[in-house]
Amino acid sequence: MSTTSPGENYRRIRDELPPEVALLVAAKGRTAEELAEVIEAGATLIGQNYVQETEAVRAELGAGAEAAEWHLIGHLQRNKVNRALPLFDVIQSVDSIRLARAIGGRAAGNVRVCVEVNVGGEASKYGVSPEAAASLVEQMSALGNLRVEGLMTMEPYCEDPEDARPYFRRMRDLFQDLGALRGPNVPMQVLSMGMTHSWRVAVEEGANMVRVGTAIFGPRHR
Ligand SMILES: *Cc1c(COP(=O)(O)O)cnc(C)c1O
Repeated sequence: MSTTSPGENYRRIRDELPPEVALLVAAKGRTAEELAEVIEAGATLIGQNYVQETEAVRAELGAGAEAAEWHLIGHLQRNKVNRALPLFDVIQSVDSIRLARAIGGRAAGNVRVCVEVNVGGEASKYGVSPEAAASLVEQMSALGNLRVEGLMTMEPYCEDPEDARPYFRRMRDLFQDLGALRGPNVPMQVLSMGMTHSWRVAVEEGANMVRVGTAIFGPRHR
């Protein structure tokens, strides 16, 4: 993997994925140069975890950043919503009505968001519980200026990705159930799950967006 470039790695994974599954490049800790390379190779979805890092890397990329959609996949603190809104096309990590209100209250137009689900119920992870997801989506829908595009999850780490399959299955079932809430503010079309280690299993279980970092860029250095 270390002998191939991020651009080549991106294209190889893109070719292996079914065409209907979106490939989001998880770019935390990567340089503007590395990002320019994957955008050049055709990447249209960039995921970032931190507001400040995104400001810096977008400033370095300049107009080159506009070729991609930027998705926030890390936790968002309410006091950073103002700074996040101009940076991101989609906020995938909404997990409380308080955060949803903070986003909706500051937005000029409709903001595209996903609900983050903590499918394994892990204390170390953000996200709403699967049981509470429907109620959160209903409340978000009522806010009027959010578009709930779908669900995002980070499954518990499993040495063997096969062991993550039940979590992905649980998410697929939840995604199907929440389809009943579809409406103008709730397209509910995105199921964002699966990472370097697990994306093949996630896709088998219904993911239509995978978020891949390490398999594209190699191990993180910072
Ligand atoms: C880092 C990250 C990924 C990608 O992880 P890799 O194992 O490097 O592919 C996906 N989703 C989120 C939320 C991340 O923070």
